[in-house]
Amino acid sequence: MQYIYTFKEGNKDMRRLLGGKGANLAQMTNLGLPVPSGFTISTEACNAFYKNHNQLNNETLAQLKTALDQLSQNVGKSFNSLSKPLLVSVRSGAAISMPGMMDTILNIGLNDQTVVALAKITANERFAYDSYRRLLAMYGNVVEGISEATFDTVIEDMKHQNHYQSDLDLTTNDLKQIVSEFKKVYINKLHHEFPQNPTEQLLAAINSVFESWNNHRAEVYRRENNIPSDLGTAVNVQMMVFGNAGKDSGTGVAFTRDPATGKKHLFGEYLLNAQGEDVVAGIRTPQPISTLKEAMPHLYAQFEAIAAKLEFYYRDMQDLEFTIENGKLYMLQARDGKRTPTAAVKIAVDMVYEDLISKQEALMRIKPESVQSILYPEFDEKDLANHDFVASGLPASPGAATGQIYFTAEAAKAAHDEKQQTVILVRQDTSPEDIEGMVVSEGIVTSRGGMTSHAAVVARGMGTPAIVGVNELQVDYQKRSATISGHQLHEGDWLSVDGTQGHIYIGQIKTADTVVNENLSTLLGWAKQESHLGVYANADTPADFSQALRFGADGIGLTRTEHMFFKPERLLEMRRLIIAENAEARQLPLKRLLKMQQGDFYELYKLSAGRSVTIRLLDPPLHEFLPHDEKEIRKVAKQLDVTPTYLEQRVDSLKELNPMLGHRGDRLAVTFPDIYQMQVDAIIGAALQLLDENVIIEPHIMIPLTALKSEMSWVKDLVVNRIEQLLVNKNVRLEYTVGTMMEMPRACLTADEIAEVSDFFSFGTNDLTQLTFGYSRDDVGSFMPEYIKQGILPADPFQTVDVDGVGQLMKMAVEKGRSIKPQLPIGVCGEIGGDPKSIEFFEQIDVSYVSCSPFRVPIARLAAAQASLRNNRVVSQTVSVKSVN
Ligand code: PEP
Ligand code: MG
Repeated sequence: MQYIYTFKEGNKDMRRLLGGKGANLAQMTNLGLPVPSGFTISTEACNAFYKNHNQLNNETLAQLKTALDQLSQNVGKSFNSLSKPLLVSVRSGAAISMPGMMDTILNIGLNDQTVVALAKITANERFAYDSYRRLLAMYGNVVEGISEATFDTVIEDMKHQNHYQSDLDLTTNDLKQIVSEFKKVYINKLHHEFPQNPTEQLLAAINSVFESWNNHRAEVYRRENNIPSDLGTAVNVQMMVFGNAGKDSGTGVAFTRDPATGKKHLFGEYLLNAQGEDVVAGIRTPQPISTLKEAMPHLYAQFEAIAAKLEFYYRDMQDLEFTIENGKLYMLQARDGKRTPTAAVKIAVDMVYEDLISKQEALMRIKPESVQSILYPEFDEKDLANHDFVASGLPASPGAATGQIYFTAEAAKAAHDEKQQTVILVRQDTSPEDIEGMVVSEGIVTSRGGMTSHAAVVARGMGTPAIVGVNELQVDYQKRSATISGHQLHEGDWLSVDGTQGHIYIGQIKTADTVVNENLSTLLGWAKQESHLGVYANADTPADFSQALRFGADGIGLTRTEHMFFKPERLLEMRRLIIAENAEARQLPLKRLLKMQQGDFYELYKLSAGRSVTIRLLDPPLHEFLPHDEKEIRKVAKQLDVTPTYLEQRVDSLKELNPMLGHRGDRLAVTFPDIYQMQVDAIIGAALQLLDENVIIEPHIMIPLTALKSEMSWVKDLVVNRIEQLLVNKNVRLEYTVGTMMEMPRACLTADEIAEVSDFFSFGTNDLTQLTFGYSRDDVGSFMPEYIKQGILPADPFQTVDVDGVGQLMKMAVEKGRSIKPQLPIGVCGEIGGDPKSIEFFEQIDVSYVSCSPFRVPIARLAAAQASLRNNRVVSQTVSVKSVN
C-alpha cells in the first residue's frame, strides 16, 4: 500500500487521496512552478492511523523514512546537519477545504544546535531565533495543547517592558530570551523539555495533525457542512522557505481576481520579513500586492505570470500563497478562491468571454440563491457591524429596509404622505384592508403568519422586505406600542429589518443601493437558452410586470385579480358589489369595476409584447374585502350610503368559520356568476381593444380551486359562453384558453378527468400544501420553526416542495393530465415555484413552467437551467402556455 506520495507523483485530480492542498502542491510542481520540495502522507494513512489506535503503522513509518531521505537528497539538506540543516513545515489538508479547522506547524528541525547553525549560515541570527520561537509556540500549542495565549503573553510582556510597537522591534537578544522563556513553559506546564530530536518533532507533528481531524471544532464543522467523517485528512511535509530571512524576503496571499467585485487584477497583500501566519494574524498591517510591483518588479512580474498560468490551468479564480526567500519566489498554495455573489457572476461571465469555460459551466458555477443578494438592497456592512439583531422571524420577503414604525395601515400612510417619513409597518398580521399601508412601507413585520400568509405573499409581490411570524413581537394597537424581545417601542421609533435573513434591529441602519447587474443579465440570457422549464412571474400590476420583465420573465404565470381591487376607489366599488342585495343592485358597481379591470388588463397585455399572460379569476372569500371593526364599519357605511346596521348584517352574513375552506374560488363563480362574467368581459374587452390596434393577444384564463370535473365544466361553460358571445357581437375570432389551478388534492387525484375540460393546469402549491398537510398557511409561524428544529420536518413545505407527499400528488396529476392531453401545459405558480430545490423536482416530473414573484425570477431561471443541465435535457424552446385544443 502506498501511503506517501512525493509532490512529483501527484496531481490535481487526487484530492480524495492527497487532500486539496497536497493535490494542488503536486500539480503546481508538475506544472514546473517553484514549489519547495515535499511529500504528502495520504488520507488513507490517516484512516490507517485511526485503525492502528492513533499510531502510524509500520508501513507508513518505513515509507516516511524513505520519503525523508529522498527529500534530503533532493534539497541537499538534512535533519540535524550543522552545515545544511533541513527544516520542514507540516500542514493538514483534507479533500474538502475546512479552513482553519486543522493544524499547521512550521520550522520543524530546529533545536538548540541547528538554530545556531542556521544563524551562522544565513548570517542572520535574528531570523534563526525568530524561527525557533515560532516552532516552540506552534509545537507547544498543536502537539502539547498549551494555549496560544500562554506564548503570546511572554511576547507581549517583552514588548510592553521595552515600549515596542511591533514584533519587528524585538531584537535578537529579546528573541533569544523569548526562546528560553518558551522552553520554561514546557518545563512548567509539561514537566519535560521541548524535544530536540527533529525526527521526534516530525512524528509528533504528523500524529497531531491526524488527531486534529477528530478535534471538536473539526467535527462540528464537518457536521455543519455535511462532510463525511471517514474522508480523513492528508499531511503535507514540505521543505521550509523563509519569508522572515531578511528585507528581501516576505510572504503573502493573493487572488487572481478581486474576490469582492470579480474585477480581473491581482488582489492581495504581503508582508516583508515575515512568516505566513503574520499576514493572517493581523499583528502587522500588510501592504497591498500592487506595491510589490515597485518594491520587487521582477518578482512581481514572475508572480503575475504564475498567477495567470494557474488560473488558465484550473479555469477558475485562484487563491494563492507565496513566500519570497532572499529574493526568490516560492509558491505554497493554490486553490479556488472564495468570492462574493457579485464577483462569482462577473468572473463566470468574463471567463466565458475569455474562452476559459463554456456557458454551461458558467451557469453551473453560480448558486441560484446567491444571486438574491445582488438583487436586493442590503444594509451597509460597516453600519451593520455596530448593531445586534434583537429578534428574528421567517424571512418572508428579502431585502433590507429601515424606517419609522407604525401599527396601522392608516397611520403608516399618513406618516408617509403627510410627513414624508420612511415607514415600517408592524402588525400582528395583515389583511387586504392594510394594502395602502403596505404599499407605502419600506418594510413589513408581523408577529403571526407563515411564508404564504397575506403579508408574505403581498410583500414578495411588491418586492418589499418583510419578516413574518416573529414570536418575540407583541403589538398593542391600543397603546400604539410594541414589545420586541423585551424592548418597548412606540409609534415613530426607528426599526431596521433584514428580510433576507429574517433579522430585526432596533434603530436606523444605512442601506446600500441595488444595482442592476449587467453580468447577471448576460448569465440569465444563457440560462434561458439552457432551460427546459419556462420561468414566468406572478404579477398583478404593470409595475410588478415591468420589474419581472427586467429580470427576464417569459410572461405572467399568475395575475391574482383580487389584488387589483385594493386601491381605495376600487375597494369601495368592490364593497358596494358585495353588499348589494340582488343582481340588479350589483349592476352599477360591476360596470365600474369592469372599466377599471379592463384598463388593468389592457396595460398588462400591452406590456407583454406578445408574451403569455395568465389571468386568474377572483379567488378569496368576499368578506376579506369588508371592514371588520366597528369604527371601520361606520366609516365604510357612510361611504356606501347604507346604515351601519345594514353593513354589519352583511358582514355577519358573509362571516365563515373556516374562510380558507369556504366560499371562495370557483365556488364564488357558481353563486355569483356575474362577478366572473365581469372579469371575462374585462379580459376579452382588453384583448379586443388591442386587436383594434392590430396587436393579437391570446388570453389565458385561469379558474382557482377546482376540485371536480363537473365544477370545472360548469365554470368553463360560463366563461366560454360569455367569450363566444362577445366575439360574435364583435364578429371577430380570438384564440384563448381556459385552464385550472391544481390546488385541491381531489383535483390531483382526478386530474385525468379534469384535463378533459382544461386547456392547462397550474399547481397552486400554497393551497395544495395547506390542504395536503392540513396546515393553515396563515398560522404555520407558530409551530413550523419548532418542527424543523426538532427534525420532524426537513424543511417548511410552503417553501420547499414536500416531495414525498405534495410532490407525489403533483407527479400523479402530471401523469394523469398528460395521459389525456400529451401536450398539456402544466405550471407551478405557488410560492415554491421560485425555490431552486423544488425546481429540480418540477423538472424531473416534467412540469412545463414555473411562476414566481418578480424578484425570484432570476433565481428560478438559474435553477431551471441547472436542473435541465443536470438532467441532460435537450432544450429546444421555452415552453409557453399555449392552447392545446
Ligand atoms: C396557491 O394556492 O399556490 C396560489 C398560487 O394561489 P393563492 O396563493 O392566491 O391562494
Ligand atoms: Mg390558491
